[in-house]
Amino acid sequence: MKFAGSHILSIGQFEREDIERVFTVADRMVPYAHRERVTKVLDGAILGNMFFEPSTRTRVSFGCAFNLLGGEVRETTGFESSAIAKGESLYDTARVLSGYSDVIVMRHPASGSVSEFAQASRVPVINGGDGANEHPSQALLDLYTIRKELRHQGRNDIDGLRIAMIGDLKYGRTVHSLCKLLGLYRNIHLVLISPDELRMPGEIVEALRMGGHTVVESDVMEASLSNVDIAYSTRIQEERFASKADADLYRGRYRLNQSIYTRYCEPNTVIMHPLPRDSRQEANELDNDLNDNPNLAIFRQADNGVLVRMALFAMILDVVDQVDKSARDVNWYTERRF
Ligand code: ASP
Repeated sequence: MKFAGSHILSIGQFEREDIERVFTVADRMVPYAHRERVTKVLDGAILGNMFFEPSTRTRVSFGCAFNLLGGEVRETTGFESSAIAKGESLYDTARVLSGYSDVIVMRHPASGSVSEFAQASRVPVINGGDGANEHPSQALLDLYTIRKELRHQGRNDIDGLRIAMIGDLKYGRTVHSLCKLLGLYRNIHLVLISPDELRMPGEIVEALRMGGHTVVESDVMEASLSNVDIAYSTRIQEERFASKADADLYRGRYRLNQSIYTRYCEPNTVIMHPLPRDSRQEANELDNDLNDNPNLAIFRQADNGVLVRMALFAMILDVVDQVDKSARDVNWYTERRF
């Protein structure tokens, strides 16, 4: 695909070779994200970061990625502080705000809303999560993490990957996008663990099976974890339920902790989660006692998000080849932190 000037709305727009290109550029961003080098390649460019749903990592890491390339970030958070609260349409908001920015990242609670916004935007729009639908940049950083973790174990191939996805697979947009992304590879073995009411949407499962992948669905976690390379846990998406009481029916159903890991998982199984993990007692889908487990990759995942998002900006704004030209070493004290 052509990245320059394009919207990033869904994993459906990528081919496998596009993904590899994003990852190659992400690798080149390491010295900047690790504060060894500074580039000003996007000096003067403005990111409109529009988040109409709660977000920490996605919002801050998109903003940070843009800053690390030398650009400025303008943020709108929440409906209350936006003219959408006065009844303005997505069309009008997009027409206006795309005049103020060079690229926009948007998160919105309604499925399809970011695509609708993009149609009226005069600049590229990246989907930062549209309701329960998709979260494409998260899936890219998840796969980038999977690739890095496997390489660390001496494995070079995503083809043949065995992955368990656990939790709210109905409303979890990250697992929807990740399934679509894995579907571009070969011979993926997926174990989808969820309560019956929160199963992965049928069309996603169907598309994976049609693509020759193996999909097993289960409502039991422990025994299903025994043959996987990746255990990808997710939070019950409370904000998509009619009430807190409805979400409470499922919260805490699957809890992965060190003793379950030791008993059921292979020694190298990588533990992932898009974050935030719900650490409240009644949920606790990934116990804090896993924090010292070297295979807990959740914070490496979050670090990788900056690299992948820098790559997307550099590719969309067509500056990949100029990033290093305007670069210099940092001139402040930096501790090695990655
Ligand atoms: N941060 C992710 C998302 O926005 C996952 C989550 O919220 O559970 O979809």
